[in-house]
Amino acid sequence: MQLYSTNQISESVGIEEAIFQGLPSDNGLYMPESIPVLPSSFWENSDKMSLSEIALEIAAAFFEEEIPRKDLQNLIEKAIDFDAPSVEVGENLYCLELFHGPSMAFKDFGARFMAAVMSYFLQKKSRKINILVATSGDTGGAVAQGFYETPNINVIILYPKGKVSEIQEKQLTTLGKNVSALEVDGTFDDCQKLVKTAFLDQELRAKHHLASANSINIARLIPQAFYYAYAYSRLKGKGLPIVFSVPSGNFGNLSAGVIAYKMGMPVQKFVAATNVNKVVPEYLRSGEYSPIKPSISTISNAMDVGDPSNFPRLKALFGNQFEEIKDQIVGFAYTDEETKVAIKELKDNFNYVVCPHTAIAYLGLRDYLVDISKATGVFLSTAHYAKFLPDVEAVLGGKLPIPERLEELISKEKVAQGMTTEYAAFKAYLEKVL
Ligand SMILES: *Cc1c(COP(=O)(O)O)cnc(C)c1O
Repeated sequence: MQLYSTNQISESVGIEEAIFQGLPSDNGLYMPESIPVLPSSFWENSDKMSLSEIALEIAAAFFEEEIPRKDLQNLIEKAIDFDAPSVEVGENLYCLELFHGPSMAFKDFGARFMAAVMSYFLQKKSRKINILVATSGDTGGAVAQGFYETPNINVIILYPKGKVSEIQEKQLTTLGKNVSALEVDGTFDDCQKLVKTAFLDQELRAKHHLASANSINIARLIPQAFYYAYAYSRLKGKGLPIVFSVPSGNFGNLSAGVIAYKMGMPVQKFVAATNVNKVVPEYLRSGEYSPIKPSISTISNAMDVGDPSNFPRLKALFGNQFEEIKDQIVGFAYTDEETKVAIKELKDNFNYVVCPHTAIAYLGLRDYLVDISKATGVFLSTAHYAKFLPDVEAVLGGKLPIPERLEELISKEKVAQGMTTEYAAFKAYLEKVL
């Protein structure tokens, strides 16, 4: 499989190179030159297949020239060792729960698959790499868990001191082994700047193999198509067209849904549901793309994105044809107040507790599907509510149960190295540990 850059300047590369480079040098995004279509017999018989069997068919369509099927199967079984059930919440209303992985958020799918694929390629070459990641919260947790104990890969995570939640901090700082955390006395932008400076430091790069694990890596996108196909396989028997509502920030998740659709999965419509950072819903209405800078803070903070990084991919999937995008995707945006009302509505009407991001997906579905008897509605739950406990408890007024996995995490001891925002200090640290 060859991948091109959406900016059309950098040359096309193979998938292995696209994964280790992350970004093409022209600052575009890597996209497969064409999206492979799976035979209709696959989609028809998918109800008899397990999540990992479905995942293997999808992954093989992209990786078959680079990774033998048997190896790909092993890798998927190790990376995706948790479920993604579509839970019936109400009549024709389903929640696709994507929080059963180690960090209890959907980013586990992308991070764990990317870690497994990178490790596979490195092992074949007996090479080692060091991953540097700056995080404002959620991504770091998924990456830390995803790469934990992965052979040939060292991970260093930089996070802003006092600016991530307690659970998020524990997810970064309690693993140890090949995962180290740096607590930077500054902002997320400072963390990002340190990482960027290290990538540009030729002296450092001459000595050490550095790589990034950011969310625009193509290896994080492909595995997100798995759970759409799996949800389709479990719900198609109801005989109604399916609508997926996706709570969106950088639009990787929705792009993955569109990849599954382009691979032949029947879908009536995707709902792009956002908070007040409504750049894409506005684009779908007007055809104008106007980034919001700086982005606006909300209670669904993993979606506080004012210039979605995967937007060029989303457009490319529709051949950059506005009319085609508009036919397949409908956009809705919600305020924090509306989000809180939805959290309460889901609890009162369906006895189902969700995080703020999931509540926005539910709202988008409710507003699109005025007549729920005519479709199967699926809203994606991108995180367990307990990851956003203070906000959810404040809305519902009372204590909520916390999953054992998070309870254990909170009781673990934090291990992090303090760091200033000076590049010299960061470099001295890297020289010492790498
Ligand atoms: C990252 C994240 C999102 C946004 O996903 P995108 O792929 O960036 O659109 C939504 N919800 C949660 C909980 C997240 O962590």
